[in-house]
Amino acid sequence: MNKRIVLLPGDGIGKEVVESAKDVLSAIAEEFNHTFSFESHDIGGAAIDLHGTPLPQSTVDACMQADAVLLGAVGGPKWDQNPSHLRPERGLLGIRKALDLYANLRPIKGFKNLLHASPLKEEVITGSDLLIVRELTGGLYFGTPSERRDGGQTVVDTLAYSRREIERIVDKAFQAAEQRRGHLTSVDKANVLESSKLWREIVEEKKAQYPNVVVEHALVDSTAMKLITNPTEFDVIVTENMFGDILSDEASVLTGSLGMLPSASLREDGVGLYEPVHGSAPDIAGKGVANPIAAILSAALLLRYSFGLEDEAKLIEEAVQSVLDAGYHTADLQVSEGRLVGTWEMAKLIVDFIQSQNASKCIMSCYV
Ligand code: NAD
Repeated sequence: MNKRIVLLPGDGIGKEVVESAKDVLSAIAEEFNHTFSFESHDIGGAAIDLHGTPLPQSTVDACMQADAVLLGAVGGPKWDQNPSHLRPERGLLGIRKALDLYANLRPIKGFKNLLHASPLKEEVITGSDLLIVRELTGGLYFGTPSERRDGGQTVVDTLAYSRREIERIVDKAFQAAEQRRGHLTSVDKANVLESSKLWREIVEEKKAQYPNVVVEHALVDSTAMKLITNPTEFDVIVTENMFGDILSDEASVLTGSLGMLPSASLREDGVGLYEPVHGSAPDIAGKGVANPIAAILSAALLLRYSFGLEDEAKLIEEAVQSVLDAGYHTADLQVSEGRLVGTWEMAKLIVDFIQSQNASKCIMSCYV
């Protein structure tokens, strides 16, 4: 398989973790005979410094031509006082919009030897493995009007959705549930909001097309509670933009570390932008101590969702689990035993596992 991947390292630890994820993707390409070509472009603060804008046209053009985009993180104190059009986050919002990335997928899975680092009780979170599918380009964050009136004393925001916008995200969630454990929780506020009533109707209409998926409707308030009291109840959650924003951040505490959480933002044709959930961590940038696993797991999602390479994606996930099981950890993981490693060593351990596993499979198949 021949694919073009655009790398957008961005700022702070973004550069370090994207480089690590690139090493892992290169190892996968070598082991499975794919050709991945990589091209790096600027975004965020780095782009402001070099091009005077957080999202240069050359970056947008390169992403438009790519089969997938892997992003690090943007932002840092250097640009905190900039006017809003020159803030690094503008680059991130701009590229999501330019690529029409309407579906945000965040898998949240606890790694067993890290569960103690979660503020939640281990017995509550053990076995939790869920996927939040969030609508990313509609709803309250994009509806108009959104303004102050009456000299600023009255405000209005608009929660608008078209049938088509709801249908495509609901389809994406059903498809994801089909590939997982076949359970979909559709989250809304249908007891109050018109938008949620249409959302529920569409989920009900769609379920006939996905007979292998069991659907449940839930209100956002009770879901917020269940996520931290009974997270193992969930498989796939689908919800609109703002509810998804809040629930996905809440669910991130299940894993115990920001450095472990990947995400995918997808367009209808499968092109996607993949990024760790964490930010640019200016406090540790350039020290070689950042945890690269969220970026590496984002690379696994890239292979799964944009390239349809499930075996390759699984091998990366297996490699991460195996390296953690062997006791290797970065400083953020709050593990007292085993061996503390830096960014590059963690990436190398994961690459080594990929190479060794694939080599042993080849040896086995050669003898069969
Ligand atoms: P952050 O995620 O960068 O850092 C929060 C804490 O977690 C820090 O102590 C950091 O050292 C630690 N941390 C984060 N990722 C880590 C990793 N991979 N390995 C080890 N430790 C890690 O959040 P913040 O401090 O609130 O934000 C810093 C900057 O990042 C800000 O400019 C913010 O706007 C930006 N930000 C960007 C994104 C993005 O690009 N998607 C997301 C969140 C924040």
